[in-house]
Amino acid sequence: MPDTHLSNSPIIAAYTERTRKSASLFRDAQDKFPGGLVHDSRRMKPHPIYVDRAEGARKWDVDGNEYIDYYGGHGALLMGHTHPTLVAAVNKQIARGTHPAACHELELDWAQLVQLLIHSAERVRFTSSGTEANLLAIRLARAFTGKTKLVRFENHFHGWQDHVAFGSKYTPDAEDVPGVLKGIVENVIVADPHDADAVKEMLESRDDIAAVIMEPTGASSGQVPLGRDFAKMVRQVTQDRGIVLIFDEVVTGFRMSPGGLQAAWGIFPDITGLAKILAGGLPGGAVVGRRDIMELLDYDVAEARGFQKISHHGTYNANPLAAAAGKAMLTAIAEEDVTERAAEMGAKLRDAWNAVFAAEDMPWAAYGLTSTTYIFMNPDGINIDPQAFDQFAHPADAFLATDRHPARAKLRLALMLNGVDVSSKPGAIMSSVHTDDDVAETAEAMRRSVRMLKEEGAV
Ligand code: PMP
Repeated sequence: MPDTHLSNSPIIAAYTERTRKSASLFRDAQDKFPGGLVHDSRRMKPHPIYVDRAEGARKWDVDGNEYIDYYGGHGALLMGHTHPTLVAAVNKQIARGTHPAACHELELDWAQLVQLLIHSAERVRFTSSGTEANLLAIRLARAFTGKTKLVRFENHFHGWQDHVAFGSKYTPDAEDVPGVLKGIVENVIVADPHDADAVKEMLESRDDIAAVIMEPTGASSGQVPLGRDFAKMVRQVTQDRGIVLIFDEVVTGFRMSPGGLQAAWGIFPDITGLAKILAGGLPGGAVVGRRDIMELLDYDVAEARGFQKISHHGTYNANPLAAAAGKAMLTAIAEEDVTERAAEMGAKLRDAWNAVFAAEDMPWAAYGLTSTTYIFMNPDGINIDPQAFDQFAHPADAFLATDRHPARAKLRLALMLNGVDVSSKPGAIMSSVHTDDDVAETAEAMRRSVRMLKEEGAV
C-alpha cells in the first residue's frame, strides 16, 4: 500500500531540511493569517515555500533553492517573470502615478487590444479580478434576461464569490453552503457537463434560465477535459433559447490562442470573463461581450430606455499599472508569437514527461491543451500508454481521481527537491520563455522524482 503519511518519508525529510527558513516564516504566519495562508491553494504539507525573487522561467526561495517555475503566477505570466518589456512598462507608469482617479489613455489602449484579440468583445468593462469579472457577468445576464437561474457545471471554477462558491471542486456540496444565502443557492443549477443530453434537455425545457457559465475546456481549466462538441451544443441551445452564455476565459483567454479558446474553437459566447494574462501579471480582470448586454452599464442608454442601470464601481478598475502591464502583454501577444511559443513548449514538456513515464513503467500521463499541462495520476490503475494517451477517451471520474492519489502531494515535493515547482493539480503552466533546456531538466527532474517515490514505496 502506498505510504500516505508525512512522517518517515525521506522526501519530506529532505524537503524540510532544505526549506528551513520557509518553515520558520510559516510558523510566524500562524498568528497573522488563518491557517498561516493568504490563498487556499498555497496549502502544502509540511509547509509552503516562501519565494524571494523570480526571473524568466525561474524562481528562488528564501533558503536559496532554485526552481524552474511551472505555476506561472497561477497562469498570469505568459511571458514568464519580470519580462523586461513588462517591467519597463510598469516602471514607466509607476513614476507617472498609480491612480489618477480619472480616465486615462492607457485604459483605451488596453481595451483596444482586448477588442483586437477577443472577437466577441464588442464592449469592455475592467474589474480587479477574475472573480469580479464573473460576478458582474452573472449580474448582467440576470438583468438582461429578467430571469433568475444560473446554470454552472460540476467542478468548474469561477472564483470564490457567493453565486459560484459551491459545486466546485473545492466545495462540491450545494446543499448547505456555509455563509451563502439559501436564496442564492436555490437559484443556481449545478449540472453534470459529462451528460450532454441531460444538459441539452434542461436548457430546452426550462424557461427560468438567465445564463450558463462554463470553463469551455473543462473543469479546473481543462484538468477534466470537455471537448469542443459540448461547448458547441451549449452555444447552439443557449442561442436558440435566449440564454446568455458566459465563457470563463480567465485562464484560457490569450492562452489557448491569442483570441482565447473561443477563437481557437470558433465558438463565441455572449459574455466572457477575463483576467490573469489580460493584466500582464498585475491584478486585473474584465467582462467583455455583446454590446446590447454590456449597455446595461451605460448611464445614457439606461436613461433613454428607462431601465435601472447596473451599478459597477471598483477603486482599481483599469488601474494604470495593470493597464500598462496588460497593454505590454497584449501587444506582445498580438505582434509576436508568445502564445504559440508557450503552446509549443507545453507540447514538448508533455512529450518529455510521457517518455519518462513510459521508460519508468509508470501508468501516468501528461495531457492538456497548448501551454497547460496536467498529470493524470491514475490511482485506479487504468491500463494506459502514456505516449498514446487520449484525454477525451476517459470518463471525468478518471481525471478527478488524481486528487485522491496518495502520492500527489509528495510528487510535488519530490519535484521541488529536484528543482521544479509544478502547480498543485499537479500540472505545469508554460510561458514563452521556457527553453528546451528547461524541458530537458524538467524531464530529468520527473525521472528522479518518480524513482524517489518508488524508493519510499509511495507509488
Ligand atoms: N475563473 C477561473 C477559471 C480561474 O481559474 C480563476 C482563478 N484561478 C478565477 C475564475 C478567479 O480569478 P481571480 O483569482 O482573479 O479572482
